[in-house]
Amino acid sequence: METKPELLILGSAAAEGIPAIFCDCRVCREAAKRGGPDVRARTCYNFGGDVQIDLGPDGLQAWQAHHDVLRRMRHLLVTHAHEDHLQPSDLVYKSRWFAGVPAIDGVLTVHGTAPTRARLENELWLGDETFEEKFRNCGLAFHLFKPFDTFVLDGCGAVVRTFAADHWERLQPCVFLVTLRGRTAFVCNDTGWLPDASWDALAKLRGEVAIDVAVLDDTGMLAGAPEGPDGADAWTRGHMSAPTILQAYDKLDELGLLAPGCVRAVNHFSHNGGSTHDELRAFYEPRGIVVGHDGLAL
Ligand SMILES: [Zn+2]
Ligand SMILES: [Zn+2]
Ligand SMILES: [Zn+2]
Repeated sequence: METKPELLILGSAAAEGIPAIFCDCRVCREAAKRGGPDVRARTCYNFGGDVQIDLGPDGLQAWQAHHDVLRRMRHLLVTHAHEDHLQPSDLVYKSRWFAGVPAIDGVLTVHGTAPTRARLENELWLGDETFEEKFRNCGLAFHLFKPFDTFVLDGCGAVVRTFAADHWERLQPCVFLVTLRGRTAFVCNDTGWLPDASWDALAKLRGEVAIDVAVLDDTGMLAGAPEGPDGADAWTRGHMSAPTILQAYDKLDELGLLAPGCVRAVNHFSHNGGSTHDELRAFYEPRGIVVGHDGLAL
């Protein structure tokens, strides 16, 4: 087992992927032509094997590409119930009926807010079973959390801190600070500029938590930057784009939350932001920020 948990980007796109289904914009056409890092599945992450963050409609593809890592998954943290981050029907395939020789030995605990649980309950075919029975019979457990919770994951001992995101409020969306085996990851999508309450809660962690790797939401790509598409405004609400991200990294720095040598990254890209992978790199790399792509380990 690795000594230092890595944050593995399993997918790097917003809801519709890149090339996006039904789209023929420049970014989608370039991605289709070039392949490689320009082709993006829906965003999810794995941290150190044990901790999965979101498992959306491209979860199968992630398993196929990273079986050796994902088979160590014991906990699934769900940021929010949007369809690009959660695919309820796939969870059923954890049952012995489907996974004849289980990759995950024991229970997979799904951690989510109340709207995430409600979506699971609505969409799983329950038949005669209750939600709890269905989960148990599939080798799953559900743990309900709220924004501004702190909890410890059994087995691996990871400490998870949740903060309210600026996203679809009815879904109680959260961003996460996860500390596992001495390394702390800040997974910060889907969100606009964080709400004041989240900045206040983060500020209180100064001296207690130092972020080793951070990934911020860049759905809007370079919108609002001089290098971005003409006339586009910076994205500040719901999702972010480059100018907001640079401010957010400055603020995390001011609050003393970034460990020396912290890996700064951006991820969760929409083709509607208008930039190719190389165009994103040309903007971010001189600023010390890594551009996420599928399969990148940070
Ligand atoms: Zn999303
Ligand atoms: Zn497109
Ligand atoms: Zn979302």
